[in-house]
Amino acid sequence: MGVDLDQVEKEVLDAQEVADDQGNNVRALKAAVKAGEATKAQLNEAIALLKKLKADLDVKRKAFDEAVGGGSKASSVNKEAFRQALQNVLLSRCFLINSFAIYGGVAGLFDYGPPGCAIKANIQSYWKRHFVLEENMLEVEASAVTPEPVLKASGHVERFTDFMVKDKVTGECHRADHLLEDKLKALLANPLEGGKRREIEDVLARLDELGAEELGTQIAKYECKAPETGNEISDPYPFNLMFATSIGPRGDTKGYLRPETAQGIFVNFPRLLNYNGMKLPFAAAQLGQSFRNEISPKQGILRVREFTQAEIEHFVDPDHKDHPKFAKVADLEMLLFSREKQVGAVKKPVLMRLGDALAQGILENETIAYFIGRVFTFMTAVGIDPNRMRFRQHLQHEMAHYACDCWDCEVECSYGWMECVGIADRSAFDLKCHAEASKKEMTAWIAYDKPKFVEELVVEPISKFIGKTFKKDAKTVTSALKTMTEENALGLKAALDAEGEASLKAFCGGGDFKITKEMVRIERETKKVSGKFITPGVIEPSFGIGRVLYCMLEHCYYVRQEEDAKEEDKKTVFRFTPLVAPTKVTVFPLLQREEFNAVCRKLCDSLIDSGLSTLMDVTGTTIGKRYARTDEIGVPFAVTVDHDTLQDNTATLRERDTTSQVRVGLEDLPGVVRDLVNMRTTWEEVQRRFPSQGGAEGGKEKGGAAGDYSLRCP
Ligand code: AMP
Repeated sequence: MGVDLDQVEKEVLDAQEVADDQGNNVRALKAAVKAGEATKAQLNEAIALLKKLKADLDVKRKAFDEAVGGGSKASSVNKEAFRQALQNVLLSRCFLINSFAIYGGVAGLFDYGPPGCAIKANIQSYWKRHFVLEENMLEVEASAVTPEPVLKASGHVERFTDFMVKDKVTGECHRADHLLEDKLKALLANPLEGGKRREIEDVLARLDELGAEELGTQIAKYECKAPETGNEISDPYPFNLMFATSIGPRGDTKGYLRPETAQGIFVNFPRLLNYNGMKLPFAAAQLGQSFRNEISPKQGILRVREFTQAEIEHFVDPDHKDHPKFAKVADLEMLLFSREKQVGAVKKPVLMRLGDALAQGILENETIAYFIGRVFTFMTAVGIDPNRMRFRQHLQHEMAHYACDCWDCEVECSYGWMECVGIADRSAFDLKCHAEASKKEMTAWIAYDKPKFVEELVVEPISKFIGKTFKKDAKTVTSALKTMTEENALGLKAALDAEGEASLKAFCGGGDFKITKEMVRIERETKKVSGKFITPGVIEPSFGIGRVLYCMLEHCYYVRQEEDAKEEDKKTVFRFTPLVAPTKVTVFPLLQREEFNAVCRKLCDSLIDSGLSTLMDVTGTTIGKRYARTDEIGVPFAVTVDHDTLQDNTATLRERDTTSQVRVGLEDLPGVVRDLVNMRTTWEEVQRRFPSQGGAEGGKEKGGAAGDYSLRCP
């Protein structure tokens, strides 16, 4: 049952008031005892009551902290500890490195080390399989250096900005909305009187849609100061996030590093359409680096200045946004946080079937719903916990300048809810802008199911009479007639029918030419039309690979619960899905003997031959310790070569999360592991196929299966 936060908050405030009153009583009694006007016993009784009231206040305060969840001190201490522990592993195990560290590093720039690179490559390659391959998309790799006219046309030069404030003393820059957000969240972590909580929650819900003026008003109202220094800050003003550069040695061609990969697809639209046989709908996809000069990069790789984007532009007839494969995702259930829910009194997402969300009009069309479904299955396949993922619709004024509807796939991590994928309906905005600026066609021909018969007014100049009368002016007259509006053409026809002649000037300006009836035929005709040219609409799922990767790392990291292990001996594990794990399998010789090592080397070769990244661990420590070491770096499978292997050519295959083991023939091992990694089979299936092997870890574990972890983001 949900906690009534209003009630809990009121109880804290009431208990605080009663405790404050009793505190005053005690002070007054102390003075009275000194003046001989009260007894010590009375004072002791009052002190005892004060202690009781304070204890009661503590209990109520704890209940409040729990009710506000994310904002409570205990919870943020846990999150901090969790993040620190994870950070230590990521840095010490070389998943991530601060770029240019030997020169002191640069904020917002990160390098990926070996396991980080491997995971990133696995996520990217699965993205290509899940989207490009399975959805038949056209992949492109466009230039990152972009000439200014492209980004002027797309609106980025003028509008790709965040609001910035400056510390009035140090000149340090901060993102205005982030300062306000931090301040408001800190206020919410304490009990508030009257309607203050609702008021603050409403500002928080609308934070992304505040313009400079309202942002400035709210910053002043809640007395935001510069972090760390506590100094006064300037009014917010827009700061363009693009990195400017110049192209070529003369330096007179202005350009930018692209802030998104999308524009590289839009500018190639006519060629891609041609490549696709001039047919709609189709989608193009691109994976590549994007660059944003973030005002205050923070939160590790979640907000950086150079990052990998994976973007899809699905070009579609705006009047037909149905999707032939929607039925495949209709039954998926996920948390949807619609605009209405965000601004309503109860700001909570709702667990819904996509089919129901579409039927109820929460999702506007099948195409956006289909992509939400595909994003959901992609995210869960790479290891994001579906219970900590939601799709949040943008508020009306929060959307980027190009979008008319947008749903963010947000993932909960120790920093809060983080946008990892934006799924935007960009309408025909980009193609229209580029068509106008480049003067190139950005349209597609849509054939009607059946030809349509439409009545239209035909204005046909008769050149033989026009030429004879007007000679060198014949061209001007013909062109004036051809470009007449329907209203003028009908006016001219009426005048010609009535008088037999009329002045062309009276109907379309320009020279004064006398037109006679035989010079032009103006008639309504029925024409057969088989289709029309349209500027396609665009649905765009846009992924930040680094954000997906980091959130996945948080969701996969935990401490294994062993029954009698001391705190310092507890083992951490990365529960990577086999698909993204940097190393898929470790091979161990049970003992350090050449006959075991030789079998291991041969097995490693055949595993690598099957495309599986493989490690061999020959260190002379216990098998349990070696298993723990591979669990720590998230290797999903381990093979142990033992005495029996030398007899019967079988080895033990162990699965990391259950720690259960089966016995598999050496010849079958590469195929079995490959199928597990490619999700063509499951561990349960493998357990059914092969004989089980007693746990080498002696059953000490309370079970390391999903959800069984203590060091996790609360
Ligand atoms: P946007 O074009 O702002 O909707 O961004 C598309 C996706 O790129 C987001 O959903 C994020 O996953 C990612 N992204 C945007 N900005 C950054 C950044 N500064 N650092 C890392 N990822 C980012």
